[in-house]
Amino acid sequence: MAIRVYNTLTRRKEEFRPIREGEVRMYVCGPTVYDYTHLGHARTYIAFDVIRRYLEHRGYTVLMVMNFTDIDDKIIRRARETGEDPRELAERFLRYFLEDMASLRVKPADVYPRVTEHIDDIIDFVRKLQEKGYAYEGSDGVYFEVGKFGDYGKLSGIRLEDLRKGARVEPGEGKKNPEDFALWKKAKPGEPKWESPWGEGRPGWHIECSTMSTKYLGESFDIHGGGNDLIFPHHENEIAQTEACTGHEWVRYWLHTGFLMVNGEKMSKSLGNFVTVREMLRRYDPEVIRLFVLQRHYRSPLDYTEEGMEHAKNNLERLYNTLENIRVAMKEADISFRWEKEEFEAYESIRNARKKFYEAMDDDFNTAEALKAVFEASTAVNRYLSDVERPKESILRKAMEFFKAVSEIFGLFEDYFRERKAENEEAFIELLVEVRSRLRRERNFELADEIRARLRELGIQLEDTPKGTVWKRIRV
Ligand code: AMP
Ligand code: ZN
Repeated sequence: MAIRVYNTLTRRKEEFRPIREGEVRMYVCGPTVYDYTHLGHARTYIAFDVIRRYLEHRGYTVLMVMNFTDIDDKIIRRARETGEDPRELAERFLRYFLEDMASLRVKPADVYPRVTEHIDDIIDFVRKLQEKGYAYEGSDGVYFEVGKFGDYGKLSGIRLEDLRKGARVEPGEGKKNPEDFALWKKAKPGEPKWESPWGEGRPGWHIECSTMSTKYLGESFDIHGGGNDLIFPHHENEIAQTEACTGHEWVRYWLHTGFLMVNGEKMSKSLGNFVTVREMLRRYDPEVIRLFVLQRHYRSPLDYTEEGMEHAKNNLERLYNTLENIRVAMKEADISFRWEKEEFEAYESIRNARKKFYEAMDDDFNTAEALKAVFEASTAVNRYLSDVERPKESILRKAMEFFKAVSEIFGLFEDYFRERKAENEEAFIELLVEVRSRLRRERNFELADEIRARLRELGIQLEDTPKGTVWKRIRV
């Protein structure tokens, strides 16, 4: 079965066919790091995380790149307000962002290119555009001449004539036409700056994504994503720059997420109506936040309300209860020597739910519909468990396998499956190693040796080295 995706560029659902077989190269616009990550960002990044996880689940190798805008007007302005160095400020919020994403169990990108570490690449790109006649130098910077790029507007549907209506070049701006945008900004006093053929300055915003995405993913790649607000002007300008430079089509599929809304408005830093991911994590388990996001299709707007969060919390609890029921039932489950009516029914329900789940995910990553299928499976298993005296192992296993796949794709139930368990186990081992070291220091060698011997029986070998005790797993 093929995956179908809605492509903003063609305004319809298309069969997903990556350029190189078996590989998906994907770029998602990252944050401008001058403040804490809010729930609106989380919505977008969780959505792309699940898209990426699903593609991986379907067997693709996914190469994922996400940029950090670590120098721009907003960062400079905020640094002035706080009295911090702009680079330090950006560095700080970049770390917080990575921490927040890890807490939300968003898988890290393969590369996180930062503007300040790619200035030379950006200068090269701008120079190429200038050589090809698409860019010109003005008094305060280098500009992209929008009128020279024939396909301008193909993503957003915006027409150049409309853009020009009523617009004018402001006094002091060095561009020829109001629609032209900056590729390079000449330095103003006190701003961070880099050497360039056009004097000291810094890159404009859009050019970073064209430069860094093509550097890591090539001149053509499969998916480019971001929130809806980036379609125009950001992505439109990215297309103009890149296709003007390479002379051929750049990105196959453009994917955009709907907004996270609060009382009918977009959650945003500038409106001040935001809740940070950190605040949310103090109140909710990360998986509740993920479930809350996944209950809507990624392109639809999502209203943030307390009730919505509580609803997600209850739903997650219901699913965990089912998983726990399965675990307990598994202990006394029967091998199947024969199936009765109940087994045939339960099998049929699980099979159906699984089919619906994959159909929904194949249909433009419809997580909302896919989740309904997960709940159907959950209901079916609970019904089965209450209908039979001794459940059959094969039925429970079928259910568990489905939930495991859902866990992998949605980043849910991680407390339940392997990864988290291994983490816990390591913490316990560390604790025992520490207790044993204390015992040795207190010359209680008998108990210390016993701990070592017992751990060894469990497949954990301790070695006392000059730097302290280390442990490793062994086969016993
Ligand atoms: P920014 O740091 O504002 O450039 O945003 C980084 C990413 O988060 C962009 O892809 C935005 O479209 C996205 N984003 C910002 N606010 C929201 C929101 N309220 N809902 C969904 N996505 C958002
Ligand atoms: Zn971008």
